Amino acid sequence: MRIADIQLDLQGSGQSWVIVHDGRAVSRHYRCHHVATARMAGLERQLAAPSFRRRACLSCGTAFTSEGAHHRMCDRCRAQA
Ligand SMILES: [Zn+2]
Repeated sequence: MRIADIQLDLQGSGQSWVIVHDGRAVSRHYRCHHVATARMAGLERQLAAPSFRRRACLSCGTAFTSEGAHHRMCDRCRAQA
């Protein structure tokens, strides 16, 4: 997971702005530059907080890749539960 690689751009001019990620438009067009800027900041936060992350298993303490808040035990402990 390389969070530092998240690159969002704002493209447009006048009354047409769109958020671009990896060369692709990822938002609707905004008429206000400051609204688009605020939305881009929100998207950046979402992308920087992926639901997949390394956690320590609640049962045995082994590090594993969690799929989200519901997923707190490693596969081995889940299989035993
Ligand atoms: Zn475990």
